[in-house]
Amino acid sequence: MHPHMKEILLDEQQIKERVLQLGQQITRDYQGQNILMVGILKGAMIFLADLVRNIDVPTSFDFMAVSSYGAGAVSSGAVRILKDLDKSIDGRHVIIVEDIVDTGLTLQYLVENMKARGPASLKICTLLDKPSRRKVDVPVDYNGFSIPDEFVVGYGLDYNERYRNLPYIAVLKPEIYRS
Ligand code: 5GP
Ligand code: MG
Ligand code: MG
Repeated sequence: MHPHMKEILLDEQQIKERVLQLGQQITRDYQGQNILMVGILKGAMIFLADLVRNIDVPTSFDFMAVSSYGAGAVSSGAVRILKDLDKSIDGRHVIIVEDIVDTGLTLQYLVENMKARGPASLKICTLLDKPSRRKVDVPVDYNGFSIPDEFVVGYGLDYNERYRNLPYIAVLKPEIYRS
């Protein structure tokens, strides 16, 4: 384990098995349709890359980047688009792919923003959910794991742009945020 981590919450094998199940579930739910996965950068990129390889219906993907947390661990509630989608989603079956839903503020903004663009359908898939921190109600259709209220990193998730490359999801040692 990386020396900055307090404990591993989800190991590589657990993540792999769950991502396979989510891919199979999405495959069943979208039989006969084409999916457009919208990955929210940068946190969701590793999850999206593994998820799409477990989906067996025609799938394309696009990306959006929004600012929510900045460098630290405190939610601002203000959402700004840093990178928009490349193409129109009008008439498409869209799945928003997120790394983690915490307060839900980022996702609430994204759902409203995407709905206004006229997709045929819109669903939400997140790897992690911290339900105890929710401030607004957002309908999560596919959830990998519900986790306790601790700041986690790895498998795409960062602290100050670090630790995204860890193959597991772990709780950062508190002395690392304070230093
Ligand atoms: P929300 O708007 O739901 O409060 O926050 C969503 C975003 O905050 C996530 O997409 C993620 O970027 C960041 N975030 C929330 N909780 C965590 C966490 O435990 N670890 C990391 N690395 N990012 C988090
Ligand atoms: Mg995110
Ligand atoms: Mg971050």
